[in-house]
Formats: sequence, C-alpha cells, structure tokens
Amino acid sequence: MNKQSYDMLVVGSGPAGQKAAVQAARAGSTVALIEKTRELGGSCVHRGTIPSKTLRENALRVKNMRMNAELANFDLAEDLELVTLINRLGEVLAAHDEYMSRQLKRNNVELIHARARFISPTALELTNVKGERAIYNGKNIVIASGSHPRHPPNIPIDHEYLFDSDSILSMMYLPKSLIVLGGGVIASEYASIFQALGVEVTMIDKYPRPLGFLDDDLTDMFITAFSKMGGTWRGETKVKSARWNGYDAVEVETEEGEIIRGEKLLCAAGRIANVKDLQINNAGLELNERGLISVDENLKTEVASVYAAGDVIGPPSLASASMEQGRRAACNALGIDAGIMHNTIPAGIYSIPELSSVGLSETSAREQYGEVLVGKAKFDEIARGQISGFLDGMLKIVCDPEGEKILGVMIVGEGATELIHIGQMALLAQAKVDIFVESIFNFPTLAEAYRAAALEIIHQRKNK
Ligand SMILES: Cc1cc2nc3c(=O)[nH]c(=O)nc-3n(C[C@H](O)[C@H](O)[C@H](O)COP(=O)(O)OP(=O)(O)OC[C@H]3O[C@@H](n4cnc5c(N)ncnc54)[C@H](O)[C@@H]3O)c2cc1C
Repeated sequence: MNKQSYDMLVVGSGPAGQKAAVQAARAGSTVALIEKTRELGGSCVHRGTIPSKTLRENALRVKNMRMNAELANFDLAEDLELVTLINRLGEVLAAHDEYMSRQLKRNNVELIHARARFISPTALELTNVKGERAIYNGKNIVIASGSHPRHPPNIPIDHEYLFDSDSILSMMYLPKSLIVLGGGVIASEYASIFQALGVEVTMIDKYPRPLGFLDDDLTDMFITAFSKMGGTWRGETKVKSARWNGYDAVEVETEEGEIIRGEKLLCAAGRIANVKDLQINNAGLELNERGLISVDENLKTEVASVYAAGDVIGPPSLASASMEQGRRAACNALGIDAGIMHNTIPAGIYSIPELSSVGLSETSAREQYGEVLVGKAKFDEIARGQISGFLDGMLKIVCDPEGEKILGVMIVGEGATELIHIGQMALLAQAKVDIFVESIFNFPTLAEAYRAAALEIIHQRKNK
C-alpha cells in the first residue's frame, strides 16, 4: 500500500474543495484534491447550479417569445426531448471543466480520483475505481464532500417517474404535467422553470408559503407570477404517499385523502451531507444533531487538523458561500489572514421571476429596529421595465426608523440576482440611503429602481 504525505488534503472537488485546494497551493503548500467521481466540480457543476440555470435560460427565452407572440408565432414541439432544452449544457460543462483542470494544474494541485475515508485525524485511505488503496497523510484535511438529495421514506424515487433534483434533468421528454414536492429554493426554481416551459406544475408543501425565509412581498409576488403562468401552489398540504400508478400517472395522496395526479414528480425535500463514506469517527469527529459537521467561525472542526466547508456544514448551502468558506478554511488552516468575513451574503433564487435579497427582511428589521421606513419601486414605473416588458418586478429598500441607514434590499424580477449587488455594496460601505439619489445611474436601466425606492424613503423621512 502506497503512502504519500502532503501539507493539505482536500476531500471533494465542488466549489468549496476547489477553492480550498487552490488557495493552499497558492500559499506554497503541497496539496492533493480527492474526488470520488470521474468528474470535476461537484454537484454544483454536474447536477445543481449550472444544469438548472442552463435550462432556465431557455425557459426564459421561451417565455419571452410567447410574451411577444405578435412578433413571431411560437410553440414548443410536442414531446420535446428535454435534452434539446439544455443543448448548451455540454459546451458549458466542457468549458468549465477545462478552466478548472487548468487552474488545478497551474497551481500544482494533485487531483486524485478516489473515494476517501478517515483512518486518523491526519490520514485518509483512498480507494480508486480499480479497488486499489493508498494511505495519504495531510498536516491538515479539509472536508468539502457536499450533499445529496433527501429521499423521504414515503416517496419512492425511481428516477423514471418520481425524480429528485439530481435526476430531474435526465427525463427524456418534457412532461405535460409535473408535481413538485417542497417549497424551498430548488422546488421553487424548478417549478417556475417548468411552468414557464408550458408544463402544468403543481407545487405541494406543508408550509403555508414557499421560500418562508424570504421577505413576504417577494414570496407574494412569486406566488402571483407562478399562478399567472398557470402554476398551482398548494400550501399547508401534507403528503401521505406518492406512487406511479403503473399506467399513466404519478398519484400523490394527501393526508386528507385527496389524490393529486401528474405525469412526473420532482421531490425537493432538502439535502443530506455526504458523510457516510468518510468515517469521520476515525478522525475523532461526530455529526451534530442535524447530521452536519460542526465548525467554528474559522471553519475548524473540533479536531485541530480538520476543517470543513460547503454544504457539509449546512446553510446557506450555496455555491457562492461554499467557495468563500473553502478559501477561508485553507487560509485559517495555514495561518494566513483571510480578511474580514462579511455576513451580508445575498440570497439569489433563480426562479422565474428571479428573487434576491441582502440584509434584513422587512419583518426582521421591524423586530430589531421598530418603525422602519420602507421604499418600494415597481419595475412598471421604471422606463427600462416598461421597454423590456418585465413589469412584474419590484425593488424594496428597508431603512432604520431615521430613514438613513440601509438595513436590507429585496428584489423580485428579471435581473434581481445581478441588481442586488448594488444594494450589497451600499450595505457593506454603510452608505446612507441618499447615495442612490445623489448618484447618476445609466438611463434607462432597472437599477433606477434603487433611486425611486430611496426617494420614497427620503420623502417619508421629511414628512415625519
Ligand atoms: C438544483 C440545484 C440548484 C442550485 N442552484 C444554486 C445556485 O443557483 N446558486 C448557488 O450559489 N448554489 C446553488 N446550489 C447549491 C450548490 O450547488 C451547492 O451549495 C454547492 O455545490 C456546494 O458545494 P460543495 O463544494 O460543498 O459540494 P459539492 O458541489 O456537492 O461537491 C462535493 C464533492 O465531493 C465529492 N465527494 C463526496 N464524498 C467524497 C469522498 N468520500 N471522497 C471523495 N470525494 C467525495 C462529491 O463527489 C462531490 O463532487 C444549487 C443546488 C442544487 C441541487
């Protein structure tokens, strides 16, 4: 059995693992990045962020062409193969793979395709596809093993009729109807994307509203837009069972005994940390009560040589946050200053329409600050919104009761996930809301909504 020694071993080549490995190598450390699949990039690249956003781009095109039916008659072909709608995915993945491989090579990160398990706090046993084993020692080890979809026991996922978020894009044809179980980010994104493609979507969840962590105005507008496209939101509905009837439909039975039918079903009932193979107990670690690996603010576990980053440590479970956590884990392990960790992480939900927020929601701001001032600008009041036809958008700024300090920004509508960064920078710079009025923005742009919302706050402030 081979024995190898490195300054750092990183388990998992997703956003967290990659950034940890590259950061450590750039600092002059010897690094091995261990990935159990043949692919590079983790679920973010192959089953999550990139494939779903590639489908979304085409869904948006379809929606926009339908919206402009007077310019050209447009209809999707009957029994359209799903692969047609993600036709650019191959190119996107190849470009991503090439870029990542080059980056690892350039930084002398050794990439090893093998399954890792701990045998001590500073050693991993690696097993490759041929069954060959080797021991790798690392002064530090970063766990970035990600997560996989949770399968509730009453939902028999078969990847043919009942899918999870890893397998949904393997559907052969665009179905006529789809039941989506769940009301979280993945459920809302896929539900609205498929609805925009003309699939009849029913979203079912036990909570009264989808995306419960978001500002109420945003979720209201999401439900309205989803319903306007023809989708059905069924909140406060508990699912007893789901099954393929063996003939023509997936049947979901609610606890009230109602049967809801759909051609296919997507179960998006949360995710579980990938820890089973790792045998973290051999490193002296245990999972916390949520089945995750606990870390401190430096991303260090209870064992001094072991750090963890990304989905394996839990929310926000975003590729964006995972990358930064990976980088920080490596810096902290090597004693390098990682800079200040800002907790103004924006939330970006790539539903149709997009939703994004940063800072406090209106409800949280009221709880903490009392009578906060709120300014709203609807996209239909902004020239660019009218020109582009994106009328169902809105931008909202929440300020402290004096109407000066920005506490949060929320946006719904196309471009929300890009526009939010203006608000994020203003929050980080601790700028007064007046900055949006005193600065000149390009015209016509949706960014003008910042100005309109800020003006509303300044007006309220003057009339107090
Ligand atoms: C449908 C969907 C859409 C999403 N959209 C977005 C989005 O728009 N924006 C966003 O920011 N986030 C999005 N996310 C979340 C994002 O994909 C994850 O937060 C991110 O991938 C987590 O990165 P990670 O590095 O922690 O893990 P992963 O990307 O899951 O990578 C972990 C890697 O570790 C490997 N591994 C696991 N165990 C072992 C082992 N024992 N040995 C060796 N290798 C191992 C796995 O094979 C995998 O390649 C989405 C997720 C899904 C499912």
